[in-house]
Amino acid sequence: MQRRQFLRQAGATLAVASTAAVASCTRQPVTSASAVPATVPPPAVRIRPDVAELAPVRAQADRITGVYVCTRPFRAAGPRIETEKLGHKTLVHNYGHGGSGWSLSWGSGTLAVRMAQATGARAIGVIGCGAIGLTSAILAQRAGLAVRIYAKALPPDVYSMRASGLWTPDSRLCDAAHAPALAVRWEEMARISHATYQSLLGVPGRPIEWIDGYALADAPMGHGHAAIPGEPEYGQFQDRVPELLPHPVDLPPGSHPFAQPYVRRYATLMFNISTYARMLMADFLAAGGKIEVREFSHPRELLKLPEHTLINATGYGAKALFNDDSIVPVRGQTARLIPQPEVTYGLRTRHVSMVPRSDGLLVQVLDDTGDFNNADTTPDRAASEAAVRELAAVMAGMRRG
Ligand SMILES: Cc1cc2nc3c(=O)[nH]c(=O)nc-3n(C[C@H](O)[C@H](O)[C@H](O)COP(=O)(O)OP(=O)(O)OC[C@H]3O[C@@H](n4cnc5c(N)ncnc54)[C@H](O)[C@@H]3O)c2cc1C
Repeated sequence: MQRRQFLRQAGATLAVASTAAVASCTRQPVTSASAVPATVPPPAVRIRPDVAELAPVRAQADRITGVYVCTRPFRAAGPRIETEKLGHKTLVHNYGHGGSGWSLSWGSGTLAVRMAQATGARAIGVIGCGAIGLTSAILAQRAGLAVRIYAKALPPDVYSMRASGLWTPDSRLCDAAHAPALAVRWEEMARISHATYQSLLGVPGRPIEWIDGYALADAPMGHGHAAIPGEPEYGQFQDRVPELLPHPVDLPPGSHPFAQPYVRRYATLMFNISTYARMLMADFLAAGGKIEVREFSHPRELLKLPEHTLINATGYGAKALFNDDSIVPVRGQTARLIPQPEVTYGLRTRHVSMVPRSDGLLVQVLDDTGDFNNADTTPDRAASEAAVRELAAVMAGMRRG
């Protein structure tokens, strides 16, 4: 989960809540303190029944099962989805999705497959087996093409497996200056992906779920998109698809179990990435897909492949393979706690996010500085332990019963 998304959702809901407050004021008759009989105690504020049953997270450092780091493949102009001639072959690029790869994958794969189909090819190669490669390959199969994936690594050993697993379709996707040029294409990708995810709900193993989450703050949550020190101002697009996510709701103090005075409930799509990636692999293979584990160190090696049309879904790997300096690594780290199936809600504070995935509770530090243009994938366990301690403090402050 990304910090600026936290702030955006926070801001959107505050507007809704303020309007509601004004409306309710106009309906209430004005009463003076003396009009209230002194013998009647003020009603106890009850926790809303729909938030009363939030199971506690066992936030302990000794329950961390792993600390994972990967680099978001950020491009200031947004993902590269375009065709390029490479000798006698056609290369359709589909890489550079920043912090939005899973969220936009079906939409950007749809655009890439359309370009591949335009070559008239009946069989294509897909280079890469992460979120983007797998979804592009499956979409090409659905379009009637024979597909072979070539990749140096397969799930679970690809960067995509280290993502948080939330619908974050405009997270670190492009910079603000390039946003207007990307907006129409972004909307198409977001809508296609969102619709595809609805079709994957209720599938055995729950690869995709809707969850509720709670944003907690000590001060009112505003509309601002606070800049992350050392990072550019990013493009924001979610206002283009306001109907795709339920509107967040501010919960009045006392109606929720949290100690923080400002609590905003949101709903979002969550990807149980382990199950989901297995499902994608199984679907691809069941439809006759072939996979060849292979690393390319120069584009000319692609010329030797039998397919004339190739989709390039190498993610951050495109930087080295195609010498593409437009890709900037944005480091991100998550820790996984032992799964707790009874924890079905997400949490965000200013510093930490928790995502209740079936393969573990994902804990992410949100406000790390020094991540932009940082390709260091060495885990910093101390940072994750600090995040788990912050989560423990939230749990300790929760009202029970
Ligand atoms: C901490 C963190 C949290 C994130 N959370 C979210 C989230 O909640 N939601 C979301 O939508 N996105 C999220 N992201 C972003 C998301 O993870 C990426 O956008 C996405 O994984 C990119 O997928 P990809 O398939 O392009 O790249 P990859 O997963 O890196 O796949 C690239 C594939 O290409 C292969 N390859 C690379 N180079 C070569 C080569 N030279 N030869 C052969 N094969 C090669 C690799 O082996 C691999 O198979 C997050 C990222 C981070 C860092």
